[in-house]
Amino acid sequence: MASIALNAHFTTTTCDRKTTEITRESLKSFVGLRKTTFENHHSLTLTKSLPIRLTNRRLHNIVATKSSPKLTGRNLRVAIIGGGPAGGAAAETLAKGGIETFLIERKLDNCKPCGGAIPLCMVGEFDLPLDIIDRRVTKMKMISPSNVAVDIGQTLKPHEYIGMVRREVLDQYLRERAEKAGATIYNGLFLKMDMPKEPNAPYVLHYSLHNGKSGSVGEKCKLEVDAVIGADGANSRVAKSIGAGDYDYAIAFQERIKIPDDKMVYYENLAEMYVGDDVSPDFYGWVFPKCDHVAVGTGTVTHKGDIKKFQLATRNRAKDKILGGKIIRVEAHPIPEHPRPKRLSGRVALVGDAAGYVTKCSGEGIYFAAKSGRMCAEAIVEGSENGTRWIEESDLRKYLEKWDKTYWPTYKVLDVLQKVFYRSNPAREAFVEMCADEYVQKMTFDSYLYKTVTPGNPLEDLKLAVNTIGSLVRANALRKEMDKISV
Ligand SMILES: Cc1cc2nc3c(=O)[nH]c(=O)nc-3n(C[C@H](O)[C@H](O)[C@H](O)COP(=O)(O)OP(=O)(O)OC[C@H]3O[C@@H](n4cnc5c(N)ncnc54)[C@H](O)[C@@H]3O)c2cc1C
Repeated sequence: MASIALNAHFTTTTCDRKTTEITRESLKSFVGLRKTTFENHHSLTLTKSLPIRLTNRRLHNIVATKSSPKLTGRNLRVAIIGGGPAGGAAAETLAKGGIETFLIERKLDNCKPCGGAIPLCMVGEFDLPLDIIDRRVTKMKMISPSNVAVDIGQTLKPHEYIGMVRREVLDQYLRERAEKAGATIYNGLFLKMDMPKEPNAPYVLHYSLHNGKSGSVGEKCKLEVDAVIGADGANSRVAKSIGAGDYDYAIAFQERIKIPDDKMVYYENLAEMYVGDDVSPDFYGWVFPKCDHVAVGTGTVTHKGDIKKFQLATRNRAKDKILGGKIIRVEAHPIPEHPRPKRLSGRVALVGDAAGYVTKCSGEGIYFAAKSGRMCAEAIVEGSENGTRWIEESDLRKYLEKWDKTYWPTYKVLDVLQKVFYRSNPAREAFVEMCADEYVQKMTFDSYLYKTVTPGNPLEDLKLAVNTIGSLVRANALRKEMDKISV
């Protein structure tokens, strides 16, 4: 889902300091990314005191990376499981980088349940053609629990927008581009993988080849490869194969609703986000425009059993604007809440949802999936010197280090934001009130659209900090009043 309103100005220095103090506790749940740093550190310090055999193994790994054997007669072989944005982007980078690349996707016309909102920087960074983008959203309405609507997007420059795509279109485009670059695409269901019994032995993947577009399961096949990228989404079998551990997840529910043409005019370049206990206790409801329909949805981590109730409430809140609409598709899917405890084992790495790279409280994962797929593939290309050398776990670890360094603060800040602003209806009212501020809007859009932290204006930051505290104090006071009423 679009995270724009929540990817806010908090990434600026002033608010970083403030949010860090707000809740140390909330960071505890952010296990995955911390773990890597810890593991690295841990392995280095332990090496001295470990039994000789283990020490040697570690040394062997390190030495092997520096002078890993040259491959003769063939290039490095890498399989990617899953052909969503993570898998497609990884496959293209690997194939272009001289790796013998295989991508296994169970459903080539897969229509992943998804809002399909992507940031502008993805269009540029992944060179996406404009004709695969259904809508260019330039207006966003944030709607509070008491239905106060705040228009955001007024600060956008003429060329700026949030892209709305259909996943069946985006995913297919990325896969086809990978194929053109030289990747071999199999329409198959990955079943399991045999781990190498010796250090330089291959992984043996078992999959069933599907019969063209019918989706029927075909013959059982095996594929030997030197490394594996798990891009098989939230229910990743690759993650299970390497014992990557679980993550908390939200369940997201979405209905695609075909609304009359005159109603569609309203949503032409506009998206809506609804907050409130009725639409979700810990997330938000949305109406996103697609080519000829709207996607209406919501999600929750804490009250999964009530998801249909929240969906009904979201639809009800938007009812005047979608009146006469016909539901053409109903879909639901888990959204990871944080990275898995382990994202790498030997020559197997996880990317995208399989790794758990969705920003908390906003549910944004398409860009992060494609980006992590590409980053992981780049580490393999680099480590193998364009497919000519063997690789080790340490080569793949470079991807994790780069990832964590680049995105850990973003995830951390959004985690904190959710805890502060999604905790009660008064806090949500305060949040929507803050969104009316032009400066908030500018910083919000900049950080969402470009995934970078733009330095703020110190005076405006100060004003914003004061306003934020004011809003929160008012929210708190209001909450106390409401608590009194409900006693
Ligand atoms: C309702 C909903 C709305 C969302 N809205 C947005 C949004 O608006 N913007 C946003 O940025 N993010 C959104 N997200 C999150 C986003 O959809 C994911 O983060 C993103 O799809 C992750 O991409 P991925 O490539 O890692 O995994 P996926 O897109 O899940 O792709 C995994 C692929 O692997 C394939 N696969 C799985 N298992 C196997 C197997 N055993 N063998 C072969 N193939 C397999 C699947 O068929 C699939 O094609 C939303 C999520 C949900 C559920």
